[in-house]
Amino acid sequence: MLIISIRYNKDSMPQFIIHEHHATHLHFDFRLEIEGVLKSWAVPKGPSMNPKDKRLAIMVDDHTLEYGSYEGIIPKGQYGAGAVVIWDAGDYEFLGGNVQDGRIEFILHGKKLKGGFILTKMSGRKKEWLLIKKRDDFAKDDFVIKNMLTPELRKKLRAKVPSCTAS
Ligand code: MN
Repeated sequence: MLIISIRYNKDSMPQFIIHEHHATHLHFDFRLEIEGVLKSWAVPKGPSMNPKDKRLAIMVDDHTLEYGSYEGIIPKGQYGAGAVVIWDAGDYEFLGGNVQDGRIEFILHGKKLKGGFILTKMSGRKKEWLLIKKRDDFAKDDFVIKNMLTPELRKKLRAKVPSCTAS
């Protein structure tokens, strides 16, 4: 039923957001709107448009939908302290699978990430998943991730506490 409503009602298309998070270690938080929350994975190397890349994606706590618009500098002493900017965002189409079973497929309509992707849990692991680009017209075998955060952008960011525990 969910898939049908996504396919036929454009207004209800779920969102995805990727936060570039300059915490102790730079990582990219990959967030998918599923059942009213942002299911979230921390991707140390960031997503890739190259189907040969299997990017480790560590499942972290769900975040609220409002957190998807967060940009700023998480103050020192707060969990995840450091700069957070939105690296990419857009709506997406859910193709199949579910989080409980450890496999989901979807099509992203972002500015940087486009086309089919798979998130699949590594067998025998609790939180470790792999994020893999599907082979399609959008795949880029020479993809190299570029960070968004520049010194100029960092100056524009304000210190603010996120709406929920960041990770
Ligand atoms: Mn994070």
